[in-house]
Amino acid sequence: MSEDIRTENIENENSETVSRNFIENIIDKDLEEGTYKKIVTRFPPEPNGYLHIGHAKSILLNYGLACEYNGQFNLRFDDTNPTKEKEEFVDSIIKDVEWLGADFRGEVLYASNYFDQMYEAAIKLINKGKAYVDDLSAEEIREYRGTLKEPGKNSPYRDRSIEENLQLFTDMKDGKFEDGSKVLRAKIDMASPNINMRDPVIYRIARMTHHNTGDKWCIYPMYDFAHPIEDAIEGVTHSICTLEFEDHRPLYNWVVEELEYPHPPKQIEFSKLYLTNVVTGKRYIKKLVEDGVVDGWDDPRLVSLAALRRRGFTPSSLKKFMELAGVSKSQSSCDYAMLEYCIREDLKPVAPRYMGVLRPLKLVIDNYPEGQTEEFEIENNQDDENAGTRKITFSRELYVEQDDFMEEPPKKYFRLFPGNEVRLKGAYFVKCTGCEKDENGNVTVVHATYDPETRSGSGFEGRKVKGTIHWVNAADALDAEVRLYENLIDEEKGKLNEDGTLNFNPNSLEVIEHAKLEKASSELKPGDHVQFIRNGYFCVDTKDTTDEHKVFNRVVGLKSSYKPAN
Ligand code: ATP
Ligand code: MG
Repeated sequence: MSEDIRTENIENENSETVSRNFIENIIDKDLEEGTYKKIVTRFPPEPNGYLHIGHAKSILLNYGLACEYNGQFNLRFDDTNPTKEKEEFVDSIIKDVEWLGADFRGEVLYASNYFDQMYEAAIKLINKGKAYVDDLSAEEIREYRGTLKEPGKNSPYRDRSIEENLQLFTDMKDGKFEDGSKVLRAKIDMASPNINMRDPVIYRIARMTHHNTGDKWCIYPMYDFAHPIEDAIEGVTHSICTLEFEDHRPLYNWVVEELEYPHPPKQIEFSKLYLTNVVTGKRYIKKLVEDGVVDGWDDPRLVSLAALRRRGFTPSSLKKFMELAGVSKSQSSCDYAMLEYCIREDLKPVAPRYMGVLRPLKLVIDNYPEGQTEEFEIENNQDDENAGTRKITFSRELYVEQDDFMEEPPKKYFRLFPGNEVRLKGAYFVKCTGCEKDENGNVTVVHATYDPETRSGSGFEGRKVKGTIHWVNAADALDAEVRLYENLIDEEKGKLNEDGTLNFNPNSLEVIEHAKLEKASSELKPGDHVQFIRNGYFCVDTKDTTDEHKVFNRVVGLKSSYKPAN
């Protein structure tokens, strides 16, 4: 009880920095009082889908605490419910946890390996008169349970003798009864104000093949009974879960107390991570995949970990994000822009800065000798002295961005327009002389002349120009596909349609088939990051890139709508 009060006080003062301490406070106290000697935490995914950014919060929190207290972090599959589990998910989850850097010592644990102990635990409860076999149907059990306002009623089978219960439970295990015809229930209190304590079902009969135990069992434990036992068996000290389990905590405590574990684990709840403008929640993501709204679990518009990785987010950017988001018990959504801030900060010092033209327009330097090519040396990353330099090539025909030219510019437009001079980054000043158009009036070629005096690196200190634009050399530019993303949902335009369906942003994906990228880009490998100056940070797509055809995903643009607090 006192824990909760401490939490609230701390949160009200400062929800960011101090609230993370609410779990640490509990752990500090437990260590001080000698309740536990070594801290053990765990991440217990159900293998029924791919992990998402919310799970990353749980993983990094549990792993972070284990590291901080020099303890142990376990990865344990909560695979007690055979209907929904798939091995495909087990593999993807292991991959994601490893990617995040949460070290589980290569030891993958499975709740289903403890089925024997769970069965023994049930027998123990029966022997203590704390569990009974009930013949009521599922519907009757629901009726007897009562409501929030009314207490429940005892089942007519509640007072079976210990001997009878032992015999019936053994018969349940031995397959003597039909699926669903009997259950084992904990004998707690049908009048409890907490409905979870009204004699919850702890074992059911279900003839299902389990991916790990095959057909060994035809009875399976229920989550609320199994989970505390799994924690206790592994010596978990702090069983950290999300808020929806708060009302289940009394049952968790009941189970570990009645089973008399010497150092029972302690359940602590924190609030789930939600993000604006995206879809979180396994079920919701699954539906987008199944409905074909997105192209698979790793579609870079999703926030599954597979998708974030493919889009180009890094484990350290997610760590930074979780630190900024903090841990608390209050429900709130984090701004997606904060996640973008974190990846930008992460990539700024490490990603090389190249020139890449997303929507190419030919620029011809008419007074530059035909057939001539020269090289310029430019810095790879101004923010990193050690990043070195590279050579870029320059010749008569270049590409610039379509919107860096305007025939009739508005005020304050300092880029290319007839009569105006701009700096081509790292090369020369060029003066626009005009353009060519097709029969529809679209500009197809821009013409300019260059001033040899203004060569970059020559120390030229003559006139200044107001605009600097990026460009690539047409002759050796890499032709590549670029994918630009916007959030799947634009919450400012309303998250839901009138009929309750999600209001998808029709512009969430834009494919540019033929971007022109400076030559050095062809050396980038799948998963590599690069900044294309003025255009954002990009990552070479790991799925669709081939030797002949490179695909770049834009991770994030360069402009930010988020400002950190300090
Ligand atoms: P979802 O709500 O997306 O369906 P889940 O809770 O069913 O996820 P599990 O595999 O049961 O998924 O969860 C494993 C762990 O991850 C649990 O401890 C759960 O509390 C935690 N978790 C799930 N979603 C979030 C979230 N959004 N923020 C923080 N932790 C989460
Ligand atoms: Mg779940």
